Amino acid sequence: MARKTIIAGNWKMNLLPAEGEELVAELKEQLQIRENLEVVICPQMALVPMALDWIYDSVIQLGAQNCAEKLSGALTGETSAELLKVLGCRYCLVGHSERRSLFNETDDMVGRKSQVLLNMGLTPIVCIGESLAQREAGDHFKTIDTQIAAVFSQLDQTDWTRLVFAYEPVWAIGTGKTATPEQAVEIHRFIRSKIKEFAGDVVANATSILYGGSANAVNAADLLGESEIDGLLVGGASLKAEDFSQIIASF
Ligand code: PEP
Repeated sequence: MARKTIIAGNWKMNLLPAEGEELVAELKEQLQIRENLEVVICPQMALVPMALDWIYDSVIQLGAQNCAEKLSGALTGETSAELLKVLGCRYCLVGHSERRSLFNETDDMVGRKSQVLLNMGLTPIVCIGESLAQREAGDHFKTIDTQIAAVFSQLDQTDWTRLVFAYEPVWAIGTGKTATPEQAVEIHRFIRSKIKEFAGDVVANATSILYGGSANAVNAADLLGESEIDGLLVGGASLKAEDFSQIIASF
């Protein structure tokens, strides 16, 4: 079975309601429906309920940018996976490098958040990737290996089939410095080989692995042209309808 291609926009902490609504309206006009393609927007939390209305009657799916690692309770300021589900989210980013570096999110937390999401029927998009220092030290494979192992070791085996990974080299996020398709493919193959070790061939071959890091309307076609790259996680370029639509049309 062909893997699903997912093009997800991570809006980060950007856009006010009127701007988000306009962006989605423009996207809906320009979007061409393609078989096996999933388009996802991940607005900041307070926009999520509004975004559910904006995407109405379109193929666009809703994702969140983060969730709590527990189901409910005294966790002021956090958002539960259960609420995300009720609000219509199908996806949630987990372990984005900004969460890891600015909010001290550990590999174990990423694993626990993924399990909570899976329990609620949401798909975690698990973000993994090395820093510039790790790449320069030749530690990128080791870093990614550890990140993947932490997730699989926390999850129920029955949920292994329901993960999506996003390879996001930290040095490429928001920097304008994209990984070359060759660099991305090398790591995607490595990620798939690690999934294979944990979950076997069938799961590894069915798992979508996205690339993220300064993907844009110019480089999207080359990245998506690689059979190992099953979609894109797009930050900055997802904030402009024309750019994001062009990225989607590159598939
Ligand atoms: C991201 O934040 O996930 C991302 C890929 O950002 P950008 O596309 O802006 O590099």
